[in-house]
Amino acid sequence: MALDDHAEELASALGVDKEEVKGDLEKLVEYSVPIDEAKDSLRRKYGDGGGGEPSARELAEISTADSAVTVRGVVLTVGKRSIRYQGDDLVIREGELADESGTIAYTAWEAFDLSPGDTVEIVGAGVREWEGNPELNLGSETTVGIDDEPLDVAYEVGGDTHLSALAPGDRGVALDVQVAEVEQKTIDGRDGETEILSGVFADETGRLPFTDWDPHGEIEEGASVGIENAYVREFRGVPSVNVSEFSTVNALDRAVETDDGAPRMSVREAVATEGLFDVEVTGNVLAVRDGSGLIQRCPECGRVVQKGQCRSHGDVDGEDDLRVKAIVDDGTDSLTAVLGTDLTSEVYGGGIEAAREAARDAMDQEVVADDIRETIVGREFRVRGTLSVDDYGANLEATEFAAVDDDPTERARGLLDAADGAAADGGTIDDVSSDEAAGDGAGEPQRGDE
Ligand SMILES: [Zn+2]
Repeated sequence: MALDDHAEELASALGVDKEEVKGDLEKLVEYSVPIDEAKDSLRRKYGDGGGGEPSARELAEISTADSAVTVRGVVLTVGKRSIRYQGDDLVIREGELADESGTIAYTAWEAFDLSPGDTVEIVGAGVREWEGNPELNLGSETTVGIDDEPLDVAYEVGGDTHLSALAPGDRGVALDVQVAEVEQKTIDGRDGETEILSGVFADETGRLPFTDWDPHGEIEEGASVGIENAYVREFRGVPSVNVSEFSTVNALDRAVETDDGAPRMSVREAVATEGLFDVEVTGNVLAVRDGSGLIQRCPECGRVVQKGQCRSHGDVDGEDDLRVKAIVDDGTDSLTAVLGTDLTSEVYGGGIEAAREAARDAMDQEVVADDIRETIVGREFRVRGTLSVDDYGANLEATEFAAVDDDPTERARGLLDAADGAAADGGTIDDVSSDEAAGDGAGEPQRGDE
């Protein structure tokens, strides 16, 4: 675009004389100011009292480098949330706005008139970066007006969604779910002790943990409920649904369908998601890591203590517990399956008391981990649980841990798969099975512990 065209565009948008704008632009460009920056500074110059408002920006072209913008768009969602800001409780509204070019998240710090479906013109919205993306901040410098000419956008108004589609940062979401698990908890909240509900929601697409900060009576085990105005935060590496005092919860007169199975993935696929609340992988146990078997936990914080020392609480009298950290590899990648007290007892074939006795007899508590090693290393297991991935690796907090060769259904399925392969290869079932059992050679298991 020639300077003349830029001047023309700017002048008409700002409602000022073209020659004047062109003169200013020429001066700025002479001083090597990039054209976009030059235009921005003229928008500021003429926008403030120069008559006329800054021209509306397309949502897709807003970047975190912008300071203030004017936009026109359709309100897709409006979520309400209470936050504590500089010592005060503040109710904010947040959601998504759309135009023809795309969508953008917003947070409104004042009680603007925002309703899903409305086309609005927002003048003087601040831009801030939130989770790497630009977000609009509507505050005391902002004006919001309803636009009578509705904008037609390709996005659905309202926050209707499913559990599998949720991501941390989503607000104003609406869901139909079944309450799969729920328990009441007392937490030390910002206003003293507070009762909350926490548990697991399920729908036909999956399962996710939830917290209800203002317990709703409709949320009881097995109930199907419709929830509006919930928001999503990350909790222990996975999305968590947050229900608040501003959410509406209604009992549904139909049962929400759920899928009791967890999605099955290869270890590589699972690790690539960077965190899943409920997933199932199948692989060979390559090794049982240090810190498995009979261990001691700090009575204060539950951390594993080493040589009587807790990292936070120093010298403590550790309490016995059982745990397994097993490296599971399916040929695509590996992860550490972490088994708690109950699953470890099953694998070990005895509880904490039995483990203590064995350790006493041998005068070495490592005998428990050795025993578990002998039982599971080199065998194939199906592991289901919550996956979290961080800089130290991938951990699968197991809710189920079953040997594939002990499970008749799994074995049958394995044989059928093998038979399919054998038919195609013209080989026999035995050939295929022994090939699979041999595996393709495992990498060096990582060592080290927390
Ligand atoms: Zn501790």
